[in-house]
Amino acid sequence: MNCPKCKEKLEVLRQCRRIRLRCTGCSHEYQIHEVASDLDRETEAILERYTAIIYD
Ligand SMILES: [Zn+2]
Repeated sequence: MNCPKCKEKLEVLRQCRRIRLRCTGCSHEYQIHEVASDLDRETEAILERYTAIIYD
């Protein structure tokens, strides 16, 4: 999916037991719940690999 601010691509970032989505353009980091309603299938598939991780 793309950044709501600058429309660049978001990459899934694993930090210890947390997951963030980081923008490759503006480097803003989003928590999952901030963008949950906008997740696309590709991003959801990536996140499914991290089901053991607590989404904070
Ligand atoms: Zn951005």
